[in-house]
Amino acid sequence: MPALKLHDTLTRTDRETTPLDGKTLRFYCCGPTVYGPAHIGNFRTFVAQDVMRRVVEASGTPTLHVRNITDVDDKTIRDSQKAGQSLLDFTQGWTQKFHTDCAALNLLPPHIEPSAVAHIPQQVTMIEKLIAGDHAYAAADGSVYFRVSSYKDYGKLSHLEDRELRLGASVAASATDSDEYTKDSLTDFALWKARKPEDGENFWPSPWGEGRPGWHLECSAMILEYLGEDFDLHSGGVDLIFPHHENEIAQSCCSTHGHFAHHWMHVAHLMVDGGKMSKSIGNLYTLEDLAKRGYSAVEVRYVLISGHYRAPLNFTMHSLDSARQALQKLAKADKALSTISPSLPDGKAAGPFAEAWETLLNDLNVPGATGAIFGVLNKLKPTTLSVEEATAARNGLHFMLKALGLTLPALADEAATDVPADIQALAQQRWDAKQAKDWAAADTLRKQLEAAGWLIKDNKEGFTVVAK
Ligand code: AMP
Ligand code: ZN
Repeated sequence: MPALKLHDTLTRTDRETTPLDGKTLRFYCCGPTVYGPAHIGNFRTFVAQDVMRRVVEASGTPTLHVRNITDVDDKTIRDSQKAGQSLLDFTQGWTQKFHTDCAALNLLPPHIEPSAVAHIPQQVTMIEKLIAGDHAYAAADGSVYFRVSSYKDYGKLSHLEDRELRLGASVAASATDSDEYTKDSLTDFALWKARKPEDGENFWPSPWGEGRPGWHLECSAMILEYLGEDFDLHSGGVDLIFPHHENEIAQSCCSTHGHFAHHWMHVAHLMVDGGKMSKSIGNLYTLEDLAKRGYSAVEVRYVLISGHYRAPLNFTMHSLDSARQALQKLAKADKALSTISPSLPDGKAAGPFAEAWETLLNDLNVPGATGAIFGVLNKLKPTTLSVEEATAARNGLHFMLKALGLTLPALADEAATDVPADIQALAQQRWDAKQAKDWAAADTLRKQLEAAGWLIKDNKEGFTVVAK
């Protein structure tokens, strides 16, 4: 089977994802910082990486997936102290929540999930190598910094070819980092942070005194441990390209003889009202928020993959309603095919969905692939198919669903699916107004729906619409 072609941030070309060792695609994803629930913006990135893995595996190549847990940094320390918990108890609680959400979103668990705290010695060893090679230096306070001027390729991934631009961007980034001090140059970044009173009990011994590793270092150290000096692919959200991934490359290439990642996949942001969904802005939704509004995790997954992963995607409640309709349509098609071909589908080949599969192999074009799936389903007349044809179609549909990580919902009863789309949308608007405590708007919309012959019944999770 042909391999997935994926855009590479470094070379700006679409390249085949063929494994360096000819067997297994070995890849690393920067994982979550566990100091609260991940929001659906974070999950856009994790879901896109999951689709990438599923497509590679469906094309016949096994994978080795490594994703870290960031369980020590300024935010985890600060919030564990606020919660009155040890750093370990606090981060383990949020790691568990992360795993529950991942399972609900049908994300394949990584094969290895190392944590930063469990790899302090590996990080210390990497710093020692960097100091020995004159790529890093200890400051008077016991912090250690990477000397950016010692690495000539710094900035290549983010295409900051112009030296001045590079420095300017670095300065801007470091200006916002309160932990950066006593450095030779503003562009240098911390590998080891000397212990401060605010760190409480969270410090480790090192040749430079007590402290903790800088955030960028953990990924480089854990990649070396589990994937070696050269590996196939590295991924994260676009916000990680600079400085995080630039810093990872610098640390790794200056402390080993390898080339680090051979392919870079970056996922564009999930947006709300034109801005990035982020915890610091506070414009975020979690799976729990959306479950309260009556939306399932698979509906959220459908929305998250509905735009191409390299284009920003604007999140709206309406997109969740469209996802629900699309999933119902897929479930209905599967049910219709099952009346002719009732045996369990094997999902081994794309069959009549070959075009959808090829579209997916072309830089994970999910919207193109789902369009092609519906194109086939719209033309398909299950009652006219032979058992063989229906079986091939059903197998193909399940092959595509597996590659996209979608599970089919139970079919809504006919009464519920008979609610016209405009009425459903109006009812959703009323619910949104109610959630926003805009009682006047919610009342007006309820009256409008009643006048059209529909009643709304609210419950804890959301609402249902019934004919008057
Ligand atoms: P964090 O827990 O902040 O380290 O982020 C985990 C992952 O989520 C990283 O790969 C980020 O780049 C990614 N991420 C953060 N915000 C968004 C967003 N709004 N849309 C897509 N990915 C995001
Ligand atoms: Zn990383």
